[in-house]
Amino acid sequence: MSTDEEAGAIGRHRLGSLQHTQGERTVLEIEGRTIGAEQFAVIAGPCTVESREQTLETAHAVRDAGGALFRGGAYKPRTSPYDFHGLGPEGLRLLAEARLETGLPIVTELLDLRDLDQVREVADVIQIGARNMQNYALLEEVGRAGVPVLLKRGLSSTLDELLLAAEYILKEGNDAVMLCERGIRTFEPSYRFTLDLMAVPVLKERSHLPVIVDPSHAAGRRDLVLPLSLAAAAAGADGIIVEVHPRPEEAICDGPQSLRTSELAGFVERVHAAAAVAGKSIREPAVV
Ligand code: PEP
Ligand code: MN
Repeated sequence: MSTDEEAGAIGRHRLGSLQHTQGERTVLEIEGRTIGAEQFAVIAGPCTVESREQTLETAHAVRDAGGALFRGGAYKPRTSPYDFHGLGPEGLRLLAEARLETGLPIVTELLDLRDLDQVREVADVIQIGARNMQNYALLEEVGRAGVPVLLKRGLSSTLDELLLAAEYILKEGNDAVMLCERGIRTFEPSYRFTLDLMAVPVLKERSHLPVIVDPSHAAGRRDLVLPLSLAAAAAGADGIIVEVHPRPEEAICDGPQSLRTSELAGFVERVHAAAAVAGKSIREPAVV
């Protein structure tokens, strides 16, 4: 087998932006928070923005626990067309308020090109979800928008496909992209998805982009989020993105996998310790 074949399909593509020499890694600076380099970032927040009270309570808990960025969906991709699809513009307004109150930069998902202008007004990082990883028009547009992007791996996508999806953003001149392993479909039905932690070192070997892990959507169960987060940190991830809710039993979306705000500080402390073992340091977030 030649080196190109071993490297997979991506080795046979003409790559521009993803080619790098060792030591030239992309580091994202987002409102004073660093994704990449020696930093480890915890991104946390609810699956979906539900109300002002839930959003602000969660955002304060994330900041107090040492979270780096606040996540929350105003536009939600749902398997059933009859499920809750997010508060839309009102959700974006609540995220802006959370940002103002806590100083935490906002990560929120863009589902539809028609919402780009509204979303970019609030988002410090635009999330492209697993189901849109191969929506190439959307990728090119967020590439042109010049906003940092959190790109999730598709449910059944190979690493080559993820890297080439990232290339759609990079080729438009936007290299502020972090890749996110969030679990893939396998034959194993015991958990929601199978978290592919081998993707962490392999993606870092094959691109210069920071790599984060989403244990919440992979597991589908709260009790698995800590062990998977520790493993992700130990594997050298540049951060994690986790779901958290003040009252997960009442959550509209993804309650069973959401950490409780009351347990977040202890959780973050343990994950930071694992990240330190992997050589990462934790910079204190700026307090506002
Ligand atoms: C999410 O982060 O809320 C989400 C829907 O994730 P994914 O696209 O990985 O399913
Ligand atoms: Mn979710």
